[in-house]
Amino acid sequence: MADLAALRQAVAQANWDLPKSGLVTMHSGNASGYSPEDDLLYIKPSGMDYDQITPDNVVPVRVSTGEVLASGVRASVDLPHHLFLYKNIPGIKGVIHTHSNHATAFAAVGKPVPLCLTAIADEFGAEIPCAPYVDNEGEHIGEAILKYRNRAPAILMGNHGVFAWGDSPRAALKAAVMTEDVAKTVWLAMQIGEPKPIPPEEAEKWYDRYHNRYGQSGVK
Ligand SMILES: [Zn+2]
Repeated sequence: MADLAALRQAVAQANWDLPKSGLVTMHSGNASGYSPEDDLLYIKPSGMDYDQITPDNVVPVRVSTGEVLASGVRASVDLPHHLFLYKNIPGIKGVIHTHSNHATAFAAVGKPVPLCLTAIADEFGAEIPCAPYVDNEGEHIGEAILKYRNRAPAILMGNHGVFAWGDSPRAALKAAVMTEDVAKTVWLAMQIGEPKPIPPEEAEKWYDRYHNRYGQSGVK
């Protein structure tokens, strides 16, 4: 069994960090975290102010059945999409949804964020793709994400916003923050010219260095 108190704390923290990072306003957006060995996720309560969220009131949900395991509280309306991603993308333990401004501007015009910055090559290893518009019924959003995603841990949903994921709620937050940050830079670039793509073999070098040789892990 995972440390579920720590997971509750991590989910609350990821939700608190959404408005702090400027990714959401009012009630939009949500973060969840998943413990596969417990068949359990925790997610933001529906329509709750971010400053009202605590580790104790994030909503527990049985992932295999979708059953909400707390009474008197409603899970985020985006719960079905979070469930679908945990069941269908191997290894992920955190999911975040936002309507962050610059990334959602790309979604409004149905454009990916092109692979034109080393920061995009580092973090995403590809353009951040944009799926065509779908409604939010059933598994439409989840299925579109599976169909249009590449190896980047984030995707734009046409006319809608961002889904990002990672191996923890914190990693999903990082992907959501980086998506907005690079979308803003590329948007600025588009005011003064045409962004220049990074060739795939060059992007590969940055991605490999960042994912295999960057930071302090594995240092002896
Ligand atoms: Zn949304």
